[in-house]
Amino acid sequence: MARVINFSAGPAALPEAVLSQAASEMLDWNGSGMSVMEMSHRGKEFVSIAAAAEADLRTLMNIPDNYKVLFVQGGATGQFASIPLNFSAKKADYVVTGSWGKKAAKEAAKYCEVNIAAQPDSFNRVPAQSEWTLSDDADYLHITPNETIEGVEFPFLPDVNVPIVADLSSTIMSAPIDVSKYGVIYAGAQKNIGPSGVTIVIIRDDLLGKADAKTPMVMNWEQQAANDSMLNTPPCYTWYLCGLVFKHMIANGGVAAYADVNARKAAKLYAAIDASKFYANPVDADSRSSMNVPFTLANAELDAAFLAEAKEAGLVTLKGHRSIGGMRASIYNAMPESGVDALITFMAEFEARNA
Ligand SMILES: *Cc1c(COP(=O)(O)O)cnc(C)c1O
Repeated sequence: MARVINFSAGPAALPEAVLSQAASEMLDWNGSGMSVMEMSHRGKEFVSIAAAAEADLRTLMNIPDNYKVLFVQGGATGQFASIPLNFSAKKADYVVTGSWGKKAAKEAAKYCEVNIAAQPDSFNRVPAQSEWTLSDDADYLHITPNETIEGVEFPFLPDVNVPIVADLSSTIMSAPIDVSKYGVIYAGAQKNIGPSGVTIVIIRDDLLGKADAKTPMVMNWEQQAANDSMLNTPPCYTWYLCGLVFKHMIANGGVAAYADVNARKAAKLYAAIDASKFYANPVDADSRSSMNVPFTLANAELDAAFLAEAKEAGLVTLKGHRSIGGMRASIYNAMPESGVDALITFMAEFEARNA
């Protein structure tokens, strides 16, 4: 068996050690005689798995006690609607720095007035806060700290007096953050955590209890929190796999250790792109993503050959998002530095053959 080096944007590569552990526990979890997939979510085995995952996530992100942590379904996209509903928002500010923020704002506009406080003409930078037009009566400010498709990452945290709601789907736990600076953090698991199917929502206590009466109960943060995210049957196996990833991360030094490796990975890949006349990345230097690195070839007619030859070299899922073309290397926590080194070597060889 040969495992490829997988640059998928999501669902994305998982740590091999975690997959091996899941395989070894597949038929009999911890002497229970059952797979985690076959357990009651109310039984003591699964309840212990769920609680350990939450505790480990709290440790990894240093989540203060006055924040609730939910493991829910519906993806980050589900939260696009849950957010205005749970705030009973009348008005909300959105800073749109890429495709996901744009979708979040569009969905929120079904439920409240949305003020686009900033949106650059092309998604290649994060405008400074001095360029934004914030409203003075917004219920919250929504940002997408890392735009997965365009590879645009906030180099700063906004300074505002309303709760910051942040879509951390593609950057959660890539580097330490101060959770206490946020009102709500949410993230689909399938980029930087585990398989698809779980969405993590981290909410400051005082923001609970405001939901619109028509909020569907599975989307109601307060009700989910009161029921330990088990208002109905949760995605048990995905939750368990997220827990294995958390334990693996703790054993490997926690978020700070990953941040060091992530910084090196991104720096060397951008350096290789910038040093070449053959490859290019359009994002302003200070707004470049450390997780998703889009790049183009000088001649787009070579794209197909690049992808085919990369695949032969064991480097897969490098095709850029269909909306922008080119290439994209997603280099989340589970991507080892050696994977990025292999990509850089391949890119140099391909350039030498084709430039
Ligand atoms: C992938 C992604 C989403 C969509 O996530 P789903 O779980 O598929 O709904 C939203 N926001 C960001 C930043 C993403 O990367």
